[in-house]
Amino acid sequence: MGYSRDDATSAIERCGEDADEIELADSILAAQTAEREGGFGEYNASNEDEKHIDKYDPFLHNNKRQRYSSSSRHNSTQMHERLKRVSCRPSTSSCHGGDADMDRETNPMVGFGLPTDPGRQMFRELPKETGGPPYFYFEIGPLAPKGVWDKFARNLGVAPEFVNSKFFSATCKKQGYLHNLPIANRFQLEPVSKKTILEVFPSARAHWPPWDTRTQFNCIQACITKTKLIEQIQAKLVASPDPPPDTVKNWVMYECNKWNLIWVGQNRVAPLEADEIEFLLGFPRNHTRGGGVSRTERYRSLENSFQVDTVAYHLSVLKDMFPNGIRVLSLFSGIGGAEVALHRLGIKMTAVMSVEVSPINRTILRGWWDQTGQKGELEVIDDIQCVDDAALKGFIARHGGFDLIVGGSSCNNLTGSNRDHRGGLHGERLFFHYQRILDRVRYLIGRH
Ligand code: SAH
Repeated sequence: MGYSRDDATSAIERCGEDADEIELADSILAAQTAEREGGFGEYNASNEDEKHIDKYDPFLHNNKRQRYSSSSRHNSTQMHERLKRVSCRPSTSSCHGGDADMDRETNPMVGFGLPTDPGRQMFRELPKETGGPPYFYFEIGPLAPKGVWDKFARNLGVAPEFVNSKFFSATCKKQGYLHNLPIANRFQLEPVSKKTILEVFPSARAHWPPWDTRTQFNCIQACITKTKLIEQIQAKLVASPDPPPDTVKNWVMYECNKWNLIWVGQNRVAPLEADEIEFLLGFPRNHTRGGGVSRTERYRSLENSFQVDTVAYHLSVLKDMFPNGIRVLSLFSGIGGAEVALHRLGIKMTAVMSVEVSPINRTILRGWWDQTGQKGELEVIDDIQCVDDAALKGFIARHGGFDLIVGGSSCNNLTGSNRDHRGGLHGERLFFHYQRILDRVRYLIGRH
């Protein structure tokens, strides 16, 4: 498949000898991305951010700039030209942030502004036909197939908001969001998440060597490192002087970056536990634990999930709009990142239609729903292909409509249940369903 023997050997070590080709390719790509991304320092706003955000969206303006005239705002040719420029070619990586084109176009991925930098907030005014309700909010990973970003953004009439979750948490996750939510007056979840590894895991400080300069984690992967590597790292460090020679330091840092290893003792590193990842992603502790969910499945579900603080920042504008609660169509719900974000924002969900093919993820979402004492109705559909007019009309008849259609793709369209041959959907077919269902909902509630 064009990978080096070393890459292939390491991937077999990580994923096991019975792993199939796709899984191995997936793992190699993830490792390459992790290596390329390195650590992440603190964000420093620069003028580059402005230039870069401003070019995306004809409906979007920095508040320091003059607003566009209404004729230019509604000039769809101009918009399409601009959307073309933010297109994302298929990635050569399997992780959230690996697409070089995407990085070049969108670096530093501050979206339409950060809560920590109010002076940089953008302004956008969507034409009537694009604005909500129903509001839509779709997360799309950089692995979207060629042309999908262009096509989908064009069909929806909005430019993507590219965000790196490192501005909202101590972990990196680079995603694009297509949505028609207002962007003024967003607010962050409370308590605001800590942004550095040592703030999140203060006990690691005692063992953290000064030459490990990481402040944030790389993107979360489902594949975790093998015990053998952990033992090798320890043995190498024990056998080295303190500080170790550069060759050892560089090798250890390479593995720490690649696998998000954390210091747990002198010369001892360990991979993140699932509950630590839950915390980094903004989920409640043990969200994915229990109910027969294996460790591997927990990692896999978490790898694909929303970073809750990031998504909540975008969804926060709904709080004032829907003081009496919100009706949600949750597509590809996974472990319920959107539901958790709304709940943590204090937005009541009066009814949710959740569509999720994985029984494990459905169990996790149902468990969370019951445990958090949600008063609304949670209706679950197994397969996106079963979301037809009858299902939508039934919900609309019972609840009067939908206020928000939210959907997450996965970070990695080759992984687990997202693969076609395991009954999941990936690539363009997934986006086709977003569009199909959004169109049907708009039609059925008389917005067409
Ligand atoms: N945003 C979610 C995760 C999305 S990952 C979260 O916060 O957890 C994409 C999800 O789509 C996966 O959970 C996968 O199981 C689901 N999926 C894939 N094919 C599907 C199909 N045909 N019908 C319904 N869900 C599907």
